[in-house]
This record gives sequence, C-alpha cells and structure tokens, in this order.
Amino acid sequence: MTVAVVLFTSDLRLHDHPPLRAALRAADRVVPLFVLDPGIRAAGFDVPNRRAFLADCLRDLDASLRRRGGRLVVRSGPVDREAAAVAAECGASEVHMAAGVTAYARHREERLRGRLGAGGVALRVHEAVITAVAPGAVTPAGSDHFAVFTPYFRRWDRETLREPLPAPRAVPVPEGVRGGPVPARADVSGTSPGLPDGGETAGRNRFSRWLRAGLSSYGDRHDDLAGDGTSRLSPYLHFGALSPVELVHRARRTGGPGAEAFVRQLCWRDFHHQVLAARPGASGTDYRTRHDHWRDEEDAAEDIAAWREGRTGYPIVDAGMRQLRHEGWMHNRARLLVASFLTKTLYVDWRIGARHFLDLLVDGDIVNNQLNWQWVAGTGTDTRPHRVLNPLVQAKRFDPGGAYVRRWVPELGDVGGAAVHEPWRLPAERRDALGYPDPLIDLADGLARFKRARGRD
Ligand SMILES: Cc1cc2nc3c(=O)[nH]c(=O)nc-3n(C[C@H](O)[C@H](O)[C@H](O)COP(=O)(O)OP(=O)(O)OC[C@H]3O[C@@H](n4cnc5c(N)ncnc54)[C@H](O)[C@@H]3O)c2cc1C
Repeated sequence: MTVAVVLFTSDLRLHDHPPLRAALRAADRVVPLFVLDPGIRAAGFDVPNRRAFLADCLRDLDASLRRRGGRLVVRSGPVDREAAAVAAECGASEVHMAAGVTAYARHREERLRGRLGAGGVALRVHEAVITAVAPGAVTPAGSDHFAVFTPYFRRWDRETLREPLPAPRAVPVPEGVRGGPVPARADVSGTSPGLPDGGETAGRNRFSRWLRAGLSSYGDRHDDLAGDGTSRLSPYLHFGALSPVELVHRARRTGGPGAEAFVRQLCWRDFHHQVLAARPGASGTDYRTRHDHWRDEEDAAEDIAAWREGRTGYPIVDAGMRQLRHEGWMHNRARLLVASFLTKTLYVDWRIGARHFLDLLVDGDIVNNQLNWQWVAGTGTDTRPHRVLNPLVQAKRFDPGGAYVRRWVPELGDVGGAAVHEPWRLPAERRDALGYPDPLIDLADGLARFKRARGRD
C-alpha cells in the first residue's frame, strides 16, 4: 500500500485542489493533514476572528472528508516536525502542499523540505492553488514582477487558467494515524458579533447566491457603501475555502460587465501576491520610500486611539471603523478612506493601521493587507502616491443618503439630510445632545501637514 500526505495550509477545500488530486493519483491512501503551528501565534496572526473562522473551515473540511470515507488529521506543533512525524508514522513517501508567498510560508517550505528530505520523503509544492495565476508566471521585460496594476491585468487576463478540478468522490485514509480534536468555533472567545460562518460549504453557497443575485450589478454597486453590493467572499478566499481559479472561470462563464469588474478585483489579489513574492520585505518596509517621518504610537497616541475606536468626529471614518469591530470585515471603499485618513490626514505610520486591521479582519492577510495599506499610504504601487481622500467628499459620493453612517454610528441615527456627514454644522444644543465627538482635526491642517511632509507645499 502506498501513502501520500496532503498538508493543508491556506487552501481549506476539496474542490479544485491540485495537491489533493496529485496525492490521490500518486498513492493508494492519503492523509489529509492540518497542523496548528504555534509559530502563527508567536507571529501575532492568531487572532479571535480568524481563529473562529479557521475552526469553521476545519470542521467543514473534516465533515466533507468523512462523507468521502476519510477524515482530517489535526496535529499541533511546529509544522515541519509534525508533517515529518505523520509521514514516518504512515510510511508516506510524498507530502503535497500549495505554494505560498509570504516570508512565513517560504520559511515553512524550506523547513519542510529539509526535515522531510532527511527522512527520504519528497515535498511536492503546487502552484496556482492560492492564486489564479502563479506569482512570477507573467513578468514584464527586464523585471521579476509588475509594479503597476493595469499592465499586469492586461497580461493576467490573457493567461489560460487550468480547468477547475471537481472534488474527489472518495478519500481513503490509512488506519491508525493519530490526530487531535478538530478545533471548534465555540471554544474561541472575543470574536466580533457579526462574524460570518466559515468553511467551504458556506463559501460555495455564498458564491452561488452571488452569481445569481449580485454579480450582474457589481459594476454599478461595488462602491455604494450602504448598498453593500460586493461579494463578501474575501474571508473564504483568504482561507482557501474557495478557489480563485474556479471563481474566475465561473464569473467569466456568467459574463457581463459585473463579471468583468469582479474578475478585475480578483486580479488585484494576484497582483499583490506577485509583488510580495518578489519583494517579501514589503510586508514591513516601504515598497517605495517617500522618506516619511511618520507620527508613531508615542507622538499620536490620542489620534490613533480615536481612529481605532471610531470616534474621530468624521462620521464616514467612524462608521467604517465600527463596522470593522462589529463584523471583522469592512467595505473596500471604507477601507480606502479610513486608511487615507490615518496615514495622510493624521500622518500616522501605515504599519500601525495595518496592525489594527490584522487584529480584527477575518480576511486579514499579510499580502493584501500590507500592500493595500502601502498603496493608500503612497509607499506602495499607487501611481498617484500623494493623493489624499477627503472624507467629506467621499461620504457625499459613496454614502449620499447617509444610510451607511446611520447604520454604524447610532448617535447619528436620527440626524437627517446632509448633516449626518457634518454634524458639527448642527446647532450647538443639538450637537451636545448627540454625544458624538467634534472633529479630531481640521482637514485643511491635515492636508497642509501631509503636503509639507512630502515636500509638495
Ligand atoms: C487598507 C486596506 C486593507 C485591506 N486589507 C485586506 C486584507 O487583509 N485581505 C483582503 O483579502 N483584502 C484586503 N483589502 C482589499 C479589499 O478591501 C477586500 O478584499 C474587499 O473589501 C473584500 O470584500 P469583498 O470580498 O466583498 O470584495 P469584492 O469587491 O467582492 O471583490 C472580490 C474579491 O477580490 C479581491 N479583492 C478586491 N479588492 C481587492 C484589493 N484591493 N486587493 C486585493 N484583493 C482584492 C478579494 O479577494 C475579494 O474578495 C484591503 C484594502 C484596503 C484599502
């Protein structure tokens, strides 16, 4: 009897899973393995919202495997040690896994290769599992990655993607492989009250609904804050409960302008992956320095606290920050404007904002979070790095009726008309009764400071 191990990481699904397919082809029996690695905790990535969503994903994966005659083997400890131990226990000659791009994923791959190799076990790493197009598969002349999105998109859009693989009918697992309990969401405390359910089944249901009822209007509605017309598939993509290859294929098959706009957003995900794969340091240092001397925790403690808590006095900013805390998720337009407010209006270091997002976002990942923060801060790939989003202009454009603000800032629930975005214009008596703070900063002062800092005054 031949045995292979499939090490699941950010690919917690059975549909369109090349490592699982390859392992099933190569061996009579397969061990589906997930390792709870304390290294993730030590690095600060193990936060309640993502831990709870991960537990849902693992439970769902285990249930799907059981329906196919198998089960998920969960172990705890350093991933290289546990994968090598499982391979030795079941006499496996191969371990299959998806390629990752972060420094953590690369280091994990190196450790696995070393440890498994010492025991005569081969590590087989599969590309285009976590992204639709593998990082480095398309490059411009003379560089190892695209630094600008639009030319990348043009090339990416012409790539031929593999056909999505169906979920296997049976997954025969050898007897007697030891495993611990599959984590449960109920054991995680401190999660956001509006956190969605995780798992491949929930993700596939949401995606099917989205294809039927959301995709066609996505092009017109994706920036409408109150309309909430985006897919909310990001956490499922982050944990790999959905395959980006399958999403692109199915959206393209559905067709229409909504599908085109949606596929373009999925390309942003791949774009950031290929940037970070080429420049792993961009997770913590400026991709393109603008020689900023940011305000840090010490200089700007009160401003940072007000921003985190959603009491800056700018309702649209506060609505976004409160949505983040309540749902572990925030609308993309709100992410853009709260990040611009922190980095450009308050001139606070983008890493402080990125850390706060990673503490709460259920889709929080190093690749998309850090590079989007850099994009907004103007230290990343934005071709207009000094642009500043004015929260009032943004509010009037993307929340014209004020419904998004009223939903998330209950103090302003009864404020009608345009005043919901500018409560400081209300008569003093009314304002005092609201219990909502005055603006933290005059926008003109923030803009002037930023321009001075960037040498553009
Ligand atoms: C400051 C900031 C931080 C962010 N942090 C993260 C993060 O940690 N994780 C994350 O997945 N996204 C992040 N984003 C990108 C984007 O905001 C989310 O992917 C999107 O809001 C998720 O909602 P959705 O699934 O409804 O997106 P949709 O609009 O339905 O888009 C479909 C998918 O495309 C991808 N996508 C869309 N926009 C982007 C983008 N700008 N960059 C990369 N991928 C994109 C996502 O996978 C998303 O699920 C961040 C954006 C900003 C401005």
